[in-house]
Amino acid sequence: MLSMANERRRRTADAKRSRLLQLATATLSCCLLASEAVGAPLFENSVVSNDIDFIKADDPAVPACMRYLGRSAQEMPGALDSDELMATDVYQFEAGFMDKSRVGIWVHPTVGSKEDAKVLAGLLLGPLGRLPSVMRHGLSHVVVHSGYHAAFAEHLGHFFVLYADNIQARLNTHDLDETVFHESVHATLDDEWSQSADWLQARQADGQFITEYAAEKPDGEDLAETALFGLTYLRHRERLPPEVAAGVESMIPARLAVLRTIFSEPEPELAGVQSEDCLTP
Ligand SMILES: [Zn+2]
Repeated sequence: MLSMANERRRRTADAKRSRLLQLATATLSCCLLASEAVGAPLFENSVVSNDIDFIKADDPAVPACMRYLGRSAQEMPGALDSDELMATDVYQFEAGFMDKSRVGIWVHPTVGSKEDAKVLAGLLLGPLGRLPSVMRHGLSHVVVHSGYHAAFAEHLGHFFVLYADNIQARLNTHDLDETVFHESVHATLDDEWSQSADWLQARQADGQFITEYAAEKPDGEDLAETALFGLTYLRHRERLPPEVAAGVESMIPARLAVLRTIFSEPEPELAGVQSEDCLTP
């Protein structure tokens, strides 16, 4: 008798557990469906949380001549070991591009010799030359510090800040072009577009974000995060995995229309152009 009573209790407990499990599963699938319905962001962020080669290192770049302007005192925000803003003896370069855009490259003296500085500045010519024309023309300069830190940009000053060891790390993971693109959006497009009525209305109409980073910081990061996916979709759709291309179409159609306007300016014709065809210093 005792064992039959025990058996009954065990079965009742099992049945309860099984009902709880069913309930939990039902709740989970309801939540998954709900998050799919509003469109969960596709990735954590646009540049380093995926392996998509949005911009390829062998994509044609507008050729640039780099000239050395000497050493001078410059505003170099982002020092890692002090709150120094002005730095003295900064290596100053200027990249003159074939399309008449000019971008300063200011390298902090702690990177080493003038040759070291020149090598670092030279690594940026390709990524700057592959930027959409509207961004390269809007960019004032790039600040390069020694050390390792994430890049950042000053949208009102129209420049961005990179760190030498981070440049190397991003090169190794094929993310340097995408990093320069992301920061250049901040430096050249944020000021005019990120709080514009066109962009804000489009964001509201879309009602979802392409990355978690954009969702977390919509006012600061949505344009820069969305632009990399949007421009790749508009110009090199085949580089996006099909499910990502489908995500761009279904999640951000209104923002895609604004990006089409932002990037409507034709790019310089590069067929037959030689690397010496840069803007002569
Ligand atoms: Zn950003």
